[in-house]
Amino acid sequence: MTNSSILILAGDGIGPEVMTEVHKVIDWMSSARGITFDVSEDLVGGAAYDAHGTPLHDDTMERAQSADAVLLGAVGGPKYDDLDFSVKPERGLLRLRKEMDLYANLRPAQCFDALADFSSLKKDVVAGLDIMIVRELTSGIYFGEPRGIITEGNERIGINTQRYTESEIARVARSAFELARKRGNKVCSMEKANVMESGVLWRQVVNEVHAAEYSDVELSHMYADAGAMQLCRWPKQFDVIVTDNLFGDLLSDAAAMLTGSLGMLPSASLGAPMANGRPKALYEPVHGSAPDIAGQGKANPIACILSFAMALRYSFDLGDEADRVEAAVEKVLADGLRTADLIGAEGQSPISTAEMGEAIVAALDASL
Ligand code: NAD
Repeated sequence: MTNSSILILAGDGIGPEVMTEVHKVIDWMSSARGITFDVSEDLVGGAAYDAHGTPLHDDTMERAQSADAVLLGAVGGPKYDDLDFSVKPERGLLRLRKEMDLYANLRPAQCFDALADFSSLKKDVVAGLDIMIVRELTSGIYFGEPRGIITEGNERIGINTQRYTESEIARVARSAFELARKRGNKVCSMEKANVMESGVLWRQVVNEVHAAEYSDVELSHMYADAGAMQLCRWPKQFDVIVTDNLFGDLLSDAAAMLTGSLGMLPSASLGAPMANGRPKALYEPVHGSAPDIAGQGKANPIACILSFAMALRYSFDLGDEADRVEAAVEKVLADGLRTADLIGAEGQSPISTAEMGEAIVAALDASL
């Protein structure tokens, strides 16, 4: 039994379809494991715009601020393409991230054995891969001032500024060390301390936080360009990678693609601890609203279900239950069940979104 609240924002396109399957897993947790959540739902993105003329109503923002975890499906779609920038569906998601101050973006790259052939790398390089990239999300070069395009003499100059305070580095470093303690207990910090002062400070602060609070965790450092090479060469050497906003943007996309389909990739964005000690948290699949397949029962719900598993592990301290959900996903894949996005050249017939959700619940049943 938990007293924990989850706010579900299913959003647009395939968002509500994949979230229906997450509800089945949440219901299973309650009926089979006695773990109940106080689940409520609200609108975000185009759905919120249709109802309220804004992609995120103030009431919804308030509810998100007080929820123990927010679970989001996806936002956007062609219907909203011509809206003014200020009310586009994506603005709802950006507002959530900004106002909840979600500074640590967690992107796991996990390769289920049954899908190892989907990677562009050799099977033995990726089979069993399970790494986590922690990207600083609210500072760095995407936000630093001065920025802009100026003219000096006859030349235009494009300017962005990489700027990190030590407290910004320290808090994301803490997130990474805390995560590592729940996983393989290893952190590799990546920056460019050889050519950037912000990288020098990054390395110093990570070392200081490590020495003062997390000396039980194994820490290493790598220049981000070397890190990119190592991710492609032998990714299994890593457990948790912590890096800044820009390098994290690139490295997490590269690492994600080591593992195959977009329909498989969960994510979490975490902020500061709330009064109850839990971090502010938003969990969402990496994919978008997939308008090309929306409403056809073709969407793969696994990314969203694995996002819920991340909530179990990182918001609710239910790591064993998260393992159980991940093992159920592994089992259905090992049994050969595939949604359309996971069909390779071998000419299998795909199962529907609902069938995949039901198969995962059946695998959960079998795990008892
Ligand atoms: P997308 O992720 O929606 O789709 C890219 C491709 O992957 C499509 O072919 C789609 O069918 C496929 N795909 C994605 N998720 C899938 C799943 N679960 N199962 C099976 N196939 C899946 O990206 P896009 O097409 O560039 O964007 C579509 C809309 O989504 C746009 O409006 C975009 O702004 C929005 N978007 C939202 C988010 C978000 O909500 N976080 C992220 C990215 C894009």
